Amino acid sequence: MTDVLIIGAGPAGLTAAIYARRAGLSVKIYESSMYGGQILTTPEVENYPSIKKISGWELAENLYEQASSLGAELVFEEISGIEDLGTHKRVLTASGEEEAKTVIIANGAKRRKLEVPGEDSHLGMGVSYCATCDGAFFAGKVAAVVGGGSTALEDALYLANLCERVHLIHRREGFRGQQTLLDAVTSHEKIEIHTNRVPLEVVGDGPVQALRLRDTVSGEEETLPTDAVFVAIGLSPDNGKFAPLVKLDESGYILASEDCHTNVPGIYAAGDTRKKSLRQIVTAASDGAIAATEAFAYLQG
Ligand code: NAP
Repeated sequence: MTDVLIIGAGPAGLTAAIYARRAGLSVKIYESSMYGGQILTTPEVENYPSIKKISGWELAENLYEQASSLGAELVFEEISGIEDLGTHKRVLTASGEEEAKTVIIANGAKRRKLEVPGEDSHLGMGVSYCATCDGAFFAGKVAAVVGGGSTALEDALYLANLCERVHLIHRREGFRGQQTLLDAVTSHEKIEIHTNRVPLEVVGDGPVQALRLRDTVSGEEETLPTDAVFVAIGLSPDNGKFAPLVKLDESGYILASEDCHTNVPGIYAAGDTRKKSLRQIVTAASDGAIAATEAFAYLQG
């Protein structure tokens, strides 16, 4: 039976794997898509201590290499639930089930949708949730980015290197993203900022042709021509499958202590999936280290 089963191969899960393997525990990581998690959608990481600048892709690759070279096994399969059997846990997978002595939930969070008409129908035809994945399709064209956090600011800067023009749409006046990013965005000649605007509809017969917006101050509506809409309006957790065994807060994040303990002994939550005040790569990695160390202590009895 596996000592530590980790759900999710982002910075939290891969760091947990590194710490658990170095403690001599057997480790299996389950990942439903690609290892790296959200950092794969980050063009450049500039706030991970000791690394001045690295692409999200390269950081993911480094983390994966380190975990796998230590002997962590990666399985590409979706997890659909966990059962607590007292002495150990049963994890339900897409193809069957797997038993483990401890489980670390590090499944991160997903990009939120705008929930406006035309969003779903233009997916892959101009609507995207990942600028680094899809930006190149719009080289020399016009793109709109929706959001006011660090992701939207980073996406706008990334796209400004490729596109002829980038419109940044935010629903209020103040931005919550990092000041250094905001400074770079406001001084970029290719980026036009539209504050106090909410998207009403993605318009286009076939590919995206425009984004219909409402001015939240004047109430007026406008149609902004664009070839692409990049949605960067935050994250939402995907933890329904772990409830009610594992307790969640009202937004669906796992309620876990600072040492990553959930309400179930032997089940830990690390990274963006748990309720916390700062969601960064460094805090996800920190959680992963803590969760693995706590799992080790639990297994020692
Ligand atoms: P975020 O910080 O939650 O920001 C989401 C933005 O989208 C907010 O500005 C929000 O507006 C807006 N928004 C939410 N729902 C909306 C809707 N329905 N329609 C229009 N706008 C909407 O999300 P994020 O930027 O993806 O960042 C997620 C986490 O990753 C954060 O903790 C962030 O610090 C971290 N991150 C860090 C870095 C970095 O350190 N370099 C880079 C990227 C992300 P309001 O402001 O009005 O609420």
